[in-house]
Amino acid sequence: MGRQRSAELFENARKLIPGGVNSPARAWNSVGGTPIFFKRGEGSHAWDEDGNSYIDYVCSWGPLILGHSHPEIVKAAQDAAVLGTSFGAPTEFEVRMAQLVVDAVPSIELVRFVSSGTEAAMSALRLARAYTGRNRIIKFDGGYHGHDDALLVEAGSGLATAGIANSAGVHPDYAAATMVADYNDVESVERLLEAHRGEVAAIIVEPIAGNMGVVPPQDGFLQGLRDLATAHGTLLIFDEVISGFRAAYGGAQSVYGVMPDITCLGKIVGGGFPVGAYGASEEIMQTVAPLGPMYQAGTLSGNPVAMAAGIKTLELLSEPGVYEGIAATTDRLASGLEAIFAEAEVPAQVNSVCGALTVFFNSNPVSDMKTASASDGKSFARFFHGMTERGVYPPPSQFEAWFVSAAHTEKDVDDTLAAARDALTS
Ligand SMILES: *Cc1c(COP(=O)(O)O)cnc(C)c1O
Repeated sequence: MGRQRSAELFENARKLIPGGVNSPARAWNSVGGTPIFFKRGEGSHAWDEDGNSYIDYVCSWGPLILGHSHPEIVKAAQDAAVLGTSFGAPTEFEVRMAQLVVDAVPSIELVRFVSSGTEAAMSALRLARAYTGRNRIIKFDGGYHGHDDALLVEAGSGLATAGIANSAGVHPDYAAATMVADYNDVESVERLLEAHRGEVAAIIVEPIAGNMGVVPPQDGFLQGLRDLATAHGTLLIFDEVISGFRAAYGGAQSVYGVMPDITCLGKIVGGGFPVGAYGASEEIMQTVAPLGPMYQAGTLSGNPVAMAAGIKTLELLSEPGVYEGIAATTDRLASGLEAIFAEAEVPAQVNSVCGALTVFFNSNPVSDMKTASASDGKSFARFFHGMTERGVYPPPSQFEAWFVSAAHTEKDVDDTLAAARDALTS
């Protein structure tokens, strides 16, 4: 399995683009080696520039829940592009997309579309500050919410993989307003709220953590956050950029029955195009311009091509049986991996939810960033290369989620498990 073309392209890329990549998670910093350059994707598979094929579990880091190049999504985007790629004025696509999101996500009454998850989280924070008149926020160690200044503190996978605790260049005043609690530890949040009564605008949390690897919320954690937020007049923000339309059609909030004040969406809602969104009750969203004093805008926001792809994605996802299928495929993969690691006597923890899992090379259960950090990155790196050499492409970091799509078949899973068994025993 040669990767000569990828190596050549990477060499050229490094002369032109910092580190050869347009997002650090694509560099193989923690696993070593040369990133694979992809040329084509179809369903659960992707082909690299040298013609090697892979069962893809990165799936664009989450957006491709229906697999690569779904023909109906491609057609929807093509049809929209022919009509006009952007107007900077409203189109029917935005209204249809908003209706789908409002119908799907229980806590959203009004929704604003933006062009990335970063923008969604950044805008949600600004909205929380504008609505409450407070400045401080609480986030969680290992929680990632995009690269907004205020949120690049103990921000999980990308930084952990790059060996960076907190980004350079963040204005200290922004970082100072950000306080960090421990995931799955309600008391760590309560202590911060008590110490800063009346000052905390928002608690922002991934309701299912995905950027320290997959870490589901323990019983009572999300409800505990809800109760504390209500008691302190603090807004609860669920960053559902990964979990939205993945854990279930209505996101993690519909799975756990806990409602946030503001929800952030991204990844899946764009159907493979750049889309993010934030939404809340009508009362909170009254704060957003042009209704209210909080400014937020975007030249390409609600872009018709991206909206058309998003609409088709949500329509396909709302068909009966889709999530049951994704959950069954995920379970087959998770339990299969667990058995293979046990058989090979390699200590591992497989955390999974519908459509996502992480294999932690770790003897102990992983419930937060501290326990995730205790994982054996060197063993993961060897396993990662063993898998890519056998035609399986997991995320190139111990702290990322493997994404399972509706396009992954039982055969894909069985082939993946065979590759894992082979990689672990040789
Ligand atoms: C990916 C991600 C973001 C950032 O989205 P971008 O589109 O990469 O800006 C924000 N929050 C979470 C939970 C994410 O996983």
